[in-house]
Amino acid sequence: MTKKLFDILIVGGGMVGASLALRFSQAGLQVAVIEKTPLSLVQDSMPTDAAETTEPPIDLRVSAINRRSEQWLQDIGVWQHLPATRLCPYRALQAFEGDSQPHNEGLTFTATELNQPYLGHIIENNSLQKTMWQQFNEFITLFCPATVVSLSQQSAISGYASVTTKEFGEISGRLLIAADGAQSQLRNLAGIGHNGWQYQQACLVATVDTEYPQQDITWQQFTEQGPRAFLPLPGAQASLVWYDDLPKVKALAQLPAAQLALEIQQNFPAKLGKITVKQQGWFPLTRMHANRYWQGRVVLVGDAAHSINPLAGQGVNLGFADAALLAELVLQALSEGRDLADSQLLQQYWQERKKANLLMMSAMDGFYQLFSSRWPVLRLARKLGLTAAAKAGPLKAWVGAYAAGLKG
Ligand SMILES: Cc1cc2nc3c(=O)[nH]c(=O)nc-3n(C[C@H](O)[C@H](O)[C@H](O)COP(=O)(O)OP(=O)(O)OC[C@H]3O[C@@H](n4cnc5c(N)ncnc54)[C@H](O)[C@@H]3O)c2cc1C
Repeated sequence: MTKKLFDILIVGGGMVGASLALRFSQAGLQVAVIEKTPLSLVQDSMPTDAAETTEPPIDLRVSAINRRSEQWLQDIGVWQHLPATRLCPYRALQAFEGDSQPHNEGLTFTATELNQPYLGHIIENNSLQKTMWQQFNEFITLFCPATVVSLSQQSAISGYASVTTKEFGEISGRLLIAADGAQSQLRNLAGIGHNGWQYQQACLVATVDTEYPQQDITWQQFTEQGPRAFLPLPGAQASLVWYDDLPKVKALAQLPAAQLALEIQQNFPAKLGKITVKQQGWFPLTRMHANRYWQGRVVLVGDAAHSINPLAGQGVNLGFADAALLAELVLQALSEGRDLADSQLLQQYWQERKKANLLMMSAMDGFYQLFSSRWPVLRLARKLGLTAAAKAGPLKAWVGAYAAGLKG
């Protein structure tokens, strides 16, 4: 098979990898994207064009996209094309213990306090991914479905790294970006180790119809068994997340929809109202951090570099922040006539993103430990913490801005 040479070779066409393909193509670089999941599988579960009259059901996997990520998606020309019918803005974020009552509001951040029209949007992962793929242009070559067999950093062509695929033979890039998710094959092939653990808890995710019309608040109730979260979706719908011990979560996920709805009603706060379960599934909770973010010409982004407890909905937001910094540094190197895989730039990318990612991962762990603990001392600490943070103006403003991606 003939050799294929590109400036940028991206393995993994998910949200983070596809966004980088678009950014580099805007600069006129030749980009290859290798994706193992056939396009049709992504498309089948997706809304198609605007002419379609019936909206397909909302997919189970959704993400809270913060303002900083929205800016990145605007810069790469994607945000403007997202179907409005699949986007739900949220204007408030609330955390509380017990049931939410007027006297027990816990901690609430509002867009108004931060002088913003909203704090972020909830959107389906596959809607975002498909919109990105639709924007792929003549500078991007998509190899899909493709199975990576091996990686060579001692390529016969100097200045390139190559992967061999079962379907398309050898594909080479001056910079190879591994955006292939938490189980990254490329991270392993590049010999980059990682550390982390599986949390003892898992989470059930359910897409539901709600009694109430479209809402614009996302909330989390903290219980001794784990948090219960509500993310509003377009229309009278929501995505619910129930954290609990693994056997319990697995058992819940297997219940018939009507029975699960009853369990949810009994275990979520009354403010949820009546619901009907449309879809359900469960996810393990993993913390993983790569020991380094680059090796030779291979650089890691998104979940391939770090995966974080989804408690605060920051995973893909961190991935987009990785992508934005990497693109900025690589395009700067290009303008200065330097190698696209210049070791100094990759080192700078690693150092800067490692710091930000570690901070968020550790903050989430601290939060998770504090709020899932049954120890009386920690229970008291979290009550005091919620009250103190709720009252402390500057601290509260800082946390709210950070959560909305307006800082950090
Ligand atoms: C329950 C849950 C809720 C979440 N909620 C939020 C949220 O609200 N907000 C938020 O920011 N984040 C959230 N996250 C995290 C978010 O989903 C991830 O951070 C995000 O999907 C990572 O994107 P990615 O593109 O790096 O990786 P992925 O989404 O994993 O994409 C990787 C891509 O690479 C492809 N691939 C994998 N291996 C190969 C290979 N060997 N060759 C070729 N292609 C390959 C895959 O098919 C996929 O397309 C949540 C996660 C979970 C589990």
